[in-house]
Amino acid sequence: MTAAQPSPQGQQPIHTRALIIGSGFSGMGMAIELQRRGVDFLILEKADEFGGTWRDNTYPGCACDIPSHMYSFSFEPKADWSHMWSFQPEIQDYLLGVASKYGLRRYTRFNTHVDRAHWDDQELRWHVFSDSGQEFIAQFLVSGAGGLHIPQIPDIEGREEFTGAAFHSAEWDHSVDLTGKRVAVIGTGASAIQIVPEIVRDVAELHLYQRTPAWVMPRVNNKFPQWIRRTFSYVPGTRAAMRAAIYWIHEGVGFAMTQQPRLLKIGEAMGRYNINRSIKDPELRRKLTPSYRAGCKRILNSDNYYRGIANPKTQVITESITRMTPTGIVTADGVEHPADVVVFATGFHVTDSYTYVDIKGAGGEDLVDRWNREGMSAHRGIAVAGMPNLFFLLGPNTALGHNSVVFMIEQQIRYVGQAIAAVDKAGAEALSPSPAAQAEFNAELQRDLADTVFNTGGCRSWYMDAHGVNRTLWSGMTWQYWLATRKLDPKEFDFIHEARDTKTLDAGVPAGA
Ligand code: NAP
Repeated sequence: MTAAQPSPQGQQPIHTRALIIGSGFSGMGMAIELQRRGVDFLILEKADEFGGTWRDNTYPGCACDIPSHMYSFSFEPKADWSHMWSFQPEIQDYLLGVASKYGLRRYTRFNTHVDRAHWDDQELRWHVFSDSGQEFIAQFLVSGAGGLHIPQIPDIEGREEFTGAAFHSAEWDHSVDLTGKRVAVIGTGASAIQIVPEIVRDVAELHLYQRTPAWVMPRVNNKFPQWIRRTFSYVPGTRAAMRAAIYWIHEGVGFAMTQQPRLLKIGEAMGRYNINRSIKDPELRRKLTPSYRAGCKRILNSDNYYRGIANPKTQVITESITRMTPTGIVTADGVEHPADVVVFATGFHVTDSYTYVDIKGAGGEDLVDRWNREGMSAHRGIAVAGMPNLFFLLGPNTALGHNSVVFMIEQQIRYVGQAIAAVDKAGAEALSPSPAAQAEFNAELQRDLADTVFNTGGCRSWYMDAHGVNRTLWSGMTWQYWLATRKLDPKEFDFIHEARDTKTLDAGVPAGA
């Protein structure tokens, strides 16, 4: 296999068989699958290094809230994870190690931000353009961009006038020394609960702006002792047993979330215990206790978040923010809270993340327009009708509220590999799911989601799109997704053999691609 090379001029189109956008867990996993299948590919990465979210998020305390023995590739296990829930530097090191083991650097063009792509119905190829104007031409296009990479900074009146440092959690400004400063943290989601206990030690005052409290479960995240790490390294089966135990415990939570939300009351009791053991003030306890069912928003876990809040330097502010001034934040009660630094731990553009790349499929149809009109949806969360040879990793309705998304990615990269093999076996140029297959899959998915805690738990979350439809989460257990994607069924796809014969369902396609 050869890596596609840019022409000396740099602006000639670059040809390859498959283009992968992004080089986080998804893009790297896809690249490794294509390598295994002998398919030429090129990774286009907007930043200057591998790692995706684990490269970008470097905020103090950044860690994974899924245990590392599960939140890692099954085919690249690491026996000596330092913690049950590892911190960002170790996860990023792991990813860089995988990239170097598989020699991915030579197949990757860094600092290449894809901003548009269109399918040519005559050539039956994708034409992909970076924001610098470089063109890439490929038969297959895989987006490994994910939904958690475009920071969402609220449009607060006066935000631009604030004269102190202000940045998003995913764009942490390490040049700003927080020591002795009055720091405002806006948001109380997965990122904020890791930031607060880390920075409270250094700051003079910490103002935590909470719109909705999160359910935060207690946990203990001590370093694994050496003997445990050695056991995982040298005693056959122990690491795999640990991974299996983590997997099934999380699937148990998934069962409650998707089949029996009432069981989540057990989690709520643990969450209340976690609040009450650190917070003595009844009024503060009340403010911190969610009023929605656990799991409706992501369930978080922390051994020190509430201790950070109990610190006398911390003040929880629940009045809504009305505006920012050059020197602070004004809340609805008219109080101005002076701040030297503002941290936006306010999450990401998720259900509208697709609007950031202009994609046009067969017949020039605009995917952004279609998804704006109809909502974001895909067949088995991966392929889209009318968008030949286009695949999404962690696409619509394949994120999770309960287990490792790396597991989902692994099912998807296998499925994409099978799709490419199916095209080849059929002697075709392209495939896309039939509109009927996609519609049927999504109708069942939405029916299943209707009873889950994500839809019924009484909260407002980023799992829902602007129309109140859950376009983000998978509706069941992850082994059900494995079942749904284990073997690509060619009957669910339209195969394109030549230009103009664009919608021929080939009855002769061999089964079992
Ligand atoms: P998030 O969970 O979406 O939390 C954003 C927070 O900001 C919420 O508390 C939200 O309040 C608040 N917020 C948003 N806009 C606001 C506004 N205008 N005024 C006041 N508050 C506002 O974002 P995140 O913490 O960055 O996490 C995003 C996702 O990243 C997570 O769910 C998770 O999937 C992933 N993540 C994972 C880990 C990990 O350990 N694996 C760590 C960090 C992040 P509302 O709740 O009221 O909307």
